[in-house]
Amino acid sequence: MPRMPSATAPTPLRFGLVASRLHRQDAQGGLADWLRACDADIRALGLELHAVGGTWEAIRKQGLLAGYPNLAPYPRGREGGVMRLVSRIAGGLESRDALDGVIYLIDPVDPSSLYPESLALKRQCVVHGKPFVSTVAGAVEWIAVESARAGLAASDAADRWRVIETQTVALIAHDALKDRMVDFASQHFELLSRFEARVGTGTTGGRLNDMAWARGWPVDRPWVRRYQSGPLGGDAQIAELVLERRCQKAIFFEDPHVARQHEADIQLLERAVCSVTRHTTCFNSPAMAERWAAAFG
Ligand code: PGA
Repeated sequence: MPRMPSATAPTPLRFGLVASRLHRQDAQGGLADWLRACDADIRALGLELHAVGGTWEAIRKQGLLAGYPNLAPYPRGREGGVMRLVSRIAGGLESRDALDGVIYLIDPVDPSSLYPESLALKRQCVVHGKPFVSTVAGAVEWIAVESARAGLAASDAADRWRVIETQTVALIAHDALKDRMVDFASQHFELLSRFEARVGTGTTGGRLNDMAWARGWPVDRPWVRRYQSGPLGGDAQIAELVLERRCQKAIFFEDPHVARQHEADIQLLERAVCSVTRHTTCFNSPAMAERWAAAFG
């Protein structure tokens, strides 16, 4: 199939790009893997990539995206590169500077992933309903989502993430977003039922099972396997599943507006996802999940 944008293709998306040292240090790293797998799709989309200093240099040095015009350098981290990305996710100083999302390939044991600006970057993406993509698998999948939205044919690498029948999905929502999760799951019930299995934290899982049974799911079978409720360690149990490569997607509707008593557990789960960066993807907001479902549903 020709890789031509459809007649209604939107203006090119603008994404911030950061890769932890581990992912950018050589041509076997996650950054190179992703850009090689998605080179043609990125060019077809015309995706603007605003890459923080060291990441931009690694792309150049490793000969990735050769000759691609839509790759813009940002200052290095210590000169405020990531800090600027945060402002631009929030809208920037001029509307032309606003970014549509971020790909941040995180190494969970690199302390820079815990700097305030890194945490703020994710948080502002969640607040503004913009994608925050933190794993290599997620970056491949996200290019497939955007390609599908733009009416472009997806590459083989991206296609792998469409085969959900062999995957387990985790469904988790903070209190203020539980109704939204039930609505999302109800609206995309067939899509989510195609996963090999669904798991969830205790309270979210209970709400989802009630919804599924009300829709006729067999009463002797839970739709979601429930672990402990979040504050009692459910996020940590799901993190272990992720680390064991038994959970390939986390759909986690996070509430960025309240202090969470089990913040450490939430971060633990996100760090677990990044530990198995080539095997798991994570959506932190309803906007991301809905965009994925609309593309693949
Ligand atoms: P819950 O946990 O579904 O048991 O409320 C979600 C969370 O807060 O992590």
